[in-house]
Amino acid sequence: MDAHPSLPSSPRSPPRLASLPSTLPLPPFAQRAWGGAVASGEWHDWRWQLAHRVTSVAALLELLGADFPVAPAMRAALEKAGAASEVSVTPCYLALARPDDPRDPILPQVLPDPAEQQSDAQASGQPDPFREEELEIAKGVVNRYPDRALFLLTNFCSTLCRHCMRRREWEGGFTRLSDAELDAGVAAIAARPAIRDVLLSGGDPLNLPPSYVGKVVRALRERCDLDLLRLGSRVPVTLPMRIDDELLAALAPAAPLWLNTHFNHAREVTAEAAAAVRRLAAAGVVVSNQGVLLRGVNDTADDLLALSRALLRAGLRAYYLHQCDPVAGVRHLRVGLARGLELIASLQGKVSGLAIPRLTVDLPGGGGKVQADGPYLRERHGDRFVYASPLTGQRIEVDGSEGSFAGAGSWRAPAGATAGGT
Ligand code: SF4
Repeated sequence: MDAHPSLPSSPRSPPRLASLPSTLPLPPFAQRAWGGAVASGEWHDWRWQLAHRVTSVAALLELLGADFPVAPAMRAALEKAGAASEVSVTPCYLALARPDDPRDPILPQVLPDPAEQQSDAQASGQPDPFREEELEIAKGVVNRYPDRALFLLTNFCSTLCRHCMRRREWEGGFTRLSDAELDAGVAAIAARPAIRDVLLSGGDPLNLPPSYVGKVVRALRERCDLDLLRLGSRVPVTLPMRIDDELLAALAPAAPLWLNTHFNHAREVTAEAAAAVRRLAAAGVVVSNQGVLLRGVNDTADDLLALSRALLRAGLRAYYLHQCDPVAGVRHLRVGLARGLELIASLQGKVSGLAIPRLTVDLPGGGGKVQADGPYLRERHGDRFVYASPLTGQRIEVDGSEGSFAGAGSWRAPAGATAGGT
C-alpha cells in the first residue's frame, strides 16, 4: 500500500544544524580581519577567540572600516562613550554583525551608544537597582529569596553586553573569587538549609577555567542539599567553541545542571551555537533561554517570532524575556512595558507555547521578579505599572515607559558626509 501522501515515507531526520545560519563565511569586514584565522583553523579555538577580543571602540570602528561609515562627530561621540566604560566582543560574535543593515541586532548590543552617557540615561537608572550588594551573605553570594542564592563567581565576560544589569561590576578590572572566598561562599550556602536552589552567575561562569567551575559545582553538590543547581551563561551565544570536552567533563559529575543562556535575536542562533547547546544537553545540562527585550534589537513581532522559531530548532525553550532593567546607562534600550506585552501576545497562535516566553520585570529595590501581566500586577495606568512584591507584599511602582534609541542605522554617516571610519 502506498504511504499517505501527506506523511513522510521514512522517519524524519532531526532538524539539521545546516538549516541555521553560520558565522562562516565571514562578512567582508571580518574576512579582512580574520580570514587568515579561519583558513588556519584558529577561528575555532576559544583561546584564539579570547586573545583576539575587540576591546575598544577605536579598534571596533577600525575593523568595521568603510562597511560602517560614521561621520567624524559621531565617531568621537562613540569613542567618548567607549572611554567611559569597558568594551569587549569576541570575533565570532562580532562577525554576526551586518553593519550595512539599519536594523542590525548585533552592534547595538556591543558598541557603546552615546546615549549611555546622557544625563537622563544615567539618572533614570541606578548602578545596583536590585540591591544585590546589600543582600550578600558572603562575598559573591546574594540571598534575596529564602529558597535560593545567586553565586557570583566572576565579573568577567568575553563579550560585554551594553544592556547588562551588572555593568557596575566592570569597573576596577576583571577578577574571580579566590579559593578562600569560594570556600566561604559554599559554607554560607550550606549553613542556610532553606536554600535549595543555587544560580552560578557573574559575569559569565563558563568563561572560567573548567577546573575552577568543576570545583565549585562539586563542592555545592557535596556540601549543600540542593534541589536545583543552575548556571547563567551567554557563552553558547558569544563563544560557543568554549563548550568543549574539557568543560563538559568538569560539569558532568554535577548533573543534572540547568543552564539559562541568553539569545536575543534569531541571527545569534547559529549552527555553532546550536551545536554547543547540543553538547551541553548530551552532558546532562538542561538548557533554556532567557532573553532581554531590547529596543532596536528584537522589538518587533517578526523579530520575536523568528527568535522563537530559531530557539525551537536549536532545542531551546524560550523561558523568560526580561524587561530591560532600570540600570544607569541602559535607558535608551528599554521597550515600553505595554508594547512588550503586545509583542508577546503577537506570538500566540503562531508558535508553540514552548517558544512563548514570559515577559518578566525585576522589581526595583530588591522586590523580586514578577511576570509583567501576572498575578502580582495591581494597577496599570498608561506607562505606570504597580506590582505587589512577591517577597514583601509591598506595592512597587515600575516605570514602563519606552526608551529612545535610534539604532545602528543612525550611527552611519548621512549620505554625502565624509566617512570617519577607516
Ligand atoms: S553575558 Fe550576561 S553578565 Fe555578561 S555582560 Fe552580557 S548580560 Fe552581563
